[in-house]
Amino acid sequence: MKKIAIIGGGASGLMAALAAARSGANVTLYEHNNAVGKKILASGNGRCNIINTTVSYHDYAGSDPQFVTYALKQLSFHYFQSFCHSIGLLLDIKDDGRCYPLSNEAKSVLIAFKSAVSGAGVTILTECAVTALSKESAGFIVTSDNNKRRYDKVLIATGSEAAPQLGATADGYTFARNFGHEIIPPYPSLVQLHLSSKHAPKMAGVKTVAEVTLLIDGKSNTTVTGDILFASYGISGLAILDVSQKASFALLHKQRVSLSLNLLPQFDTQTLTNTLDKLFASIPNQSVQNALCGLLPAKIVTYLLDDAQIPLSVCVSTLGPKEIKKLVYLIREWKFEVTDTHGFKHAEVSGGGVSTAQVNHKTMESKLVEGLYFAGEVLDIVGRRGGYNFNFAWASGMIAGKEMAK
Ligand SMILES: Cc1cc2nc3c(=O)[nH]c(=O)nc-3n(C[C@H](O)[C@H](O)[C@H](O)COP(=O)(O)OP(=O)(O)OC[C@H]3O[C@@H](n4cnc5c(N)ncnc54)[C@H](O)[C@@H]3O)c2cc1C
Repeated sequence: MKKIAIIGGGASGLMAALAAARSGANVTLYEHNNAVGKKILASGNGRCNIINTTVSYHDYAGSDPQFVTYALKQLSFHYFQSFCHSIGLLLDIKDDGRCYPLSNEAKSVLIAFKSAVSGAGVTILTECAVTALSKESAGFIVTSDNNKRRYDKVLIATGSEAAPQLGATADGYTFARNFGHEIIPPYPSLVQLHLSSKHAPKMAGVKTVAEVTLLIDGKSNTTVTGDILFASYGISGLAILDVSQKASFALLHKQRVSLSLNLLPQFDTQTLTNTLDKLFASIPNQSVQNALCGLLPAKIVTYLLDDAQIPLSVCVSTLGPKEIKKLVYLIREWKFEVTDTHGFKHAEVSGGGVSTAQVNHKTMESKLVEGLYFAGEVLDIVGRRGGYNFNFAWASGMIAGKEMAK
């Protein structure tokens, strides 16, 4: 019977533990928190967007996103759904492919996994931080709380540095580096952005729907439409999270990052010009501030007019075509420089991590050290929003667990 250690009781570690134990291995799971699965509980606003019905490597970023393809094929959606049934977890499948537990509570996912893992005979050691990992001829030595235990194989499933308040550590990178593995510099992803704008903090709390274009070194990179929310530090909202991976990666590489906001994406330039012309003609004696409040949130109007250098009290009948053109331009392309992300503490996930070039994509085993495996977010793979991060954590954990038991 193979003696296996799994470091990290998150999504990938729990899945690996179950797969390995069901395949006949003697499994010990180390978790430094007082309980396993803290990120599962916090995920999806407490609902856990557990997987997506459609997935491909295009939903991931990393030095080699195609690394995920084999693993995702092994854990197809239908396979995962039957697996969930086998541990007593039913899924609610949304029209856009996102899946949640039918209970709508992340807790159900954790309860199901924990019972399955315990039922399969896995030894779970909580409040047990692994502090060192070394290899000797007959296997690995895992050191925790001054205890040293020997195992045939070890899985590093320690996740990333994102959300340290939930127990995230960079320990997996240290262990991997000590074995000669390359670490692609980690960066926060699915995270809010800091802006160098005197206006943004004054608009804190204002939420609207916008078309957000991410510009890298002045060139348009990605455009998404969705909620944006101004904040004291800059900007958040789902549309911002959706462009944050590329923004954060570009910032890490010292590129110039900015956002262009189209505040009324439902209008093209001509329609918006006509709309403003008509609106202003119908209320000629109104101030431009009041007139624009019929179209946009009031606080946005104040600072947009400031950037357009049009006094708030100017009567709309006095605005000429040049000013209207300027307004139309700013409403459609209001630009903000991005100076930073809101950091790992606020990020849902992290890009970067253990280089996938040194890991076998079919087994998750290190190409450098026999018997050493990796799964989940510790690897240089990061998914977009929509259940894709768990998707890869389950898939890579399952493969690693089965392979380790061989
Ligand atoms: C607020 C939030 C919401 C999210 N929502 C979603 C969502 O809805 N859908 C989605 O797909 N993804 C979501 N994610 C991302 C998802 O949670 C992660 O991608 C996923 O948990 C990664 O799994 P993992 O097993 O690789 O790492 P983790 O789940 O982070 O597990 C790693 C475990 O290792 C433990 N550990 C670390 N170092 C040590 C050590 N030295 N010794 C012992 N234990 C250690 C940690 O405490 C942790 O329990 C969310 C993340 C956050 C923070």
